[in-house]
Amino acid sequence: MADPEVVVVARQFKQALLAQERSAMLVMAQRWAMIERTLQAHIDALVQELGSIEALAGMTPEQLYRMDRYQALVMQVREQLRLYEHWAEGQITASQRQAIEMGRETVTESLSASGLGISWNRLPVRSIEIMVGLAGDGAPLFSLLQQRALWPDAVEGLTQALLRGMALGWNPRKTASRMADGLAEGLNKALTIARTETMRAYRMATVEGYRESNVVSGFRRLAAKDGRTCLACLMSDGETFDLASDLTDHPNGRCVAVPILVGREPPQWQTGREWFETLPPERQREMMGAERYDAWSRGAFDLSALRRTAHSDVWGDSPRVATLAELTNTR
Ligand SMILES: [Zn+2]
Repeated sequence: MADPEVVVVARQFKQALLAQERSAMLVMAQRWAMIERTLQAHIDALVQELGSIEALAGMTPEQLYRMDRYQALVMQVREQLRLYEHWAEGQITASQRQAIEMGRETVTESLSASGLGISWNRLPVRSIEIMVGLAGDGAPLFSLLQQRALWPDAVEGLTQALLRGMALGWNPRKTASRMADGLAEGLNKALTIARTETMRAYRMATVEGYRESNVVSGFRRLAAKDGRTCLACLMSDGETFDLASDLTDHPNGRCVAVPILVGREPPQWQTGREWFETLPPERQREMMGAERYDAWSRGAFDLSALRRTAHSDVWGDSPRVATLAELTNTR
């Protein structure tokens, strides 16, 4: 069964958006590398000082936290990451605006792929920007990065690496390099926020466009189908929504909406579940995790049970994968 044109269009736009996102991620990582270089000198100085303490292995975390050099490093991390947050916010906002624009194009192309001229005036870009969290001038209405600051993750990451190095007696060079890796927890968080916010803006723009079109009655969830797609999204692939609903997803989620036209049959495609069922057992096992896979092989649950719903007051409902306990206690 060949995919309907409207599904092909949805996939193409998603690919284009993800490609754009990859280059945005690269820019964010390059900027991060500059911060890392600045902080490296402070990390090295701390590690050098610790290296001179004979009873390093016996040092408690509390003693470490009281060290002037440690505190100076934490201050530096905070300061540098504040600067990074400020810069990254501009990047994320720009990505969101691009995603909204791409959402508008997706709606136009999807409807024309279905043989419909555009009978709607225009996508209300401004109201979508506000829905997404941008003010009329494109500035963020509330600062995501300040609310979910990067520095605590970065400080936690580097401190854990340092404590591990002390406990295991790593040499100073190894310790310093693992601390820089730990620092990168801040970057990982920034990338997750960027990805999540960009996809969210895109989903909101497409769904709002379908609402405004007057020729769409609802939409279906289209999940990515690859080894990185979580099982909750795979099992939700094809879910049907009415137009009043929003399409929400979890952090890093890549699901998009495929429109259902008024008076027509909903578009069909091979669903995530059907796709999963065609995979060789070893891939299924890899994607599910050994414990879930074994329980499933025993017939302990149906694949549909893998999809649970998580709720967030900020982001709404999103798919999540059932835990092993949930899967094995249901019957
Ligand atoms: Zn997912």
